Amino acid sequence: MRMSGASTTSRRVREGETVDYEIAVGPGNARSVGGLNYRHQFHAGNFADVMKHALLVRLIRAMQRKDKGFVFVDTHAGRGEYDLARAAVGDRRARQPEWPDGVGRIWDRRDLPAELADYLDLVRAHDRAHGNLAPEPRFYPGSPALARRLARPQDRLSLWELQPAECAALRSEFGGGAGVAIEEADGYGAPRAALPPPERRALVLIDAPFEDADEWSRIRQALTDALARLPAAVCAVWYPLTARALSADVAATIVPLGRPALAVEIALPSSPAKLTGCGVAVINPPWGFEGEARGVAAALAAIFGPDGAAEAGVRWLVPDV
Ligand code: SAM
Repeated sequence: MRMSGASTTSRRVREGETVDYEIAVGPGNARSVGGLNYRHQFHAGNFADVMKHALLVRLIRAMQRKDKGFVFVDTHAGRGEYDLARAAVGDRRARQPEWPDGVGRIWDRRDLPAELADYLDLVRAHDRAHGNLAPEPRFYPGSPALARRLARPQDRLSLWELQPAECAALRSEFGGGAGVAIEEADGYGAPRAALPPPERRALVLIDAPFEDADEWSRIRQALTDALARLPAAVCAVWYPLTARALSADVAATIVPLGRPALAVEIALPSSPAKLTGCGVAVINPPWGFEGEARGVAAALAAIFGPDGAAEAGVRWLVPDV
């Protein structure tokens, strides 16, 4: 995806080879991308994951304030969980693991606010359950693993992943579980296929790799499809916050939908870290989410900003009147 102030490099390869694309944005780079070769493995547990997953946990908890079940639709599910020891290995080139500047920064903290401590407790429980006895984190849960850990018997997971190897890994760990459906397919089709659910309640996460120029228009269509089928669906969209143009994309995509929408953003203006910021837009935010999101954003800004200098913002894109 071409972004204002961004530079893109790519190398052409023969069919079947790994493609590495880097989109560098501002002083750092947001995500390694490139068609179906995007691997979240290399980014697992980074700052963006911490923010996205901490907010996802708040959203799931909010959905669960009602006894009635709901379906969690994860349009870009990834492999479900990640071995951080493998993140350092890389595929064809040495890669710096990103988790030390992400979940690594909060791993030993016992003084986190409750909104964030809840997420970290879940990550620690996942790590321990997978057998890690070392002091540093090893096994990091992706969005499917967090959702499964939190799911009640009446909740369902609809997980979509297009990359065959990633989907195979997802299936081997999550397949066959009660209330879990896995599709190796384009996740932008998930809202049309999975909504409206029998429960009439849904939480949709769109966590795209932002690799294509038309990513925002596909997100817009998926959101339109979701809200046409279930106007009260809670939809969360992760996005890189790296240039003004991107913030404009968020508003241009979300505002016309005409539903209450909140944007939670953290910018690391002068950070040496790879990410310069990211956001999560939430359409139809559940009651109480705004206050919790403010708590998460403020805590993360203090932890991740160089000298505590990160900027956290929570703003209504469409006010809830
Ligand atoms: N949501 C995951 C989590 O939080 O653990 C991380 C997902 S990762 C950022 C994006 C994933 O989307 C990658 O695994 C990639 O293979 C997959 N992907 C890319 N395009 C897709 C599409 N059109 N439909 C479904 N999955 C796609």
